[in-house]
Amino acid sequence: MNETALKYERMREEMVRTQIEVRGITDPKVIFAMQKVPRHFFVSDALMDQAYGDFPLPIGEQQTISQPYIVAEMTQALNLNKEDRVLEIGTGSGYQAAILAEIAFRVYTTERIHSLYVKTRNLFDRLHYHNIVTKYSDGTLGWESESPFDAIIVTAGAPDIPKVLVSQLAMGGRLIIPVGNQYTQDLIRLYRDERGIHKTNLGGCRFVKLVGEHGWKEE
Ligand code: SAH
Repeated sequence: MNETALKYERMREEMVRTQIEVRGITDPKVIFAMQKVPRHFFVSDALMDQAYGDFPLPIGEQQTISQPYIVAEMTQALNLNKEDRVLEIGTGSGYQAAILAEIAFRVYTTERIHSLYVKTRNLFDRLHYHNIVTKYSDGTLGWESESPFDAIIVTAGAPDIPKVLVSQLAMGGRLIIPVGNQYTQDLIRLYRDERGIHKTNLGGCRFVKLVGEHGWKEE
């Protein structure tokens, strides 16, 4: 490993120790993934040294890469197994998708901003994430042809839970989505079993807007 890679590996270790483990993330698979994925490659060169800080960062097009802790929290709440097929709405930087791809069998991720879609798809190739499938589309419609999914994660704030996403959830499937207004949301977890849909509130969060047919309307 060269000096720069080693420097970032140390920053990643510190991130896991001071931001992830002490705040209730206990799933070893999540901790392993957070320790492994080189977050600095998912931000612009100018922001690389800040990539392991305890905050979100801009990624262009007025979008953000989420704070490390929220990525870990949402991933843990999905309760992933290595056979799982996961749908992500809001590819953005690709960081959350990479974390999912370290744990699950395959990740399907959609992005509605073309420049981010192209840039991030190239990054996945460069980092050899061959189990991530990307699509340029409105993710509020889900991904019908690849459904049902064992887990669905929405990484942008929605006004309501799009029903079509719930319908693309497999039996035993889990859905995590921030729901609220454009300034603040609650992180909602749905679990589907034979008896129906079970809903829990994991607490407050703040995401950029989910824009689309079953999300916020474009300005
Ligand atoms: N998971 C990302 C978070 C990026 S921010 C990461 O780890 O970096 C949320 C992303 O959701 C933005 O890139 C935004 O363009 C995208 N988005 C918003 N509405 C969307 C929609 N309807 N379909 C697909 N992507 C959407």
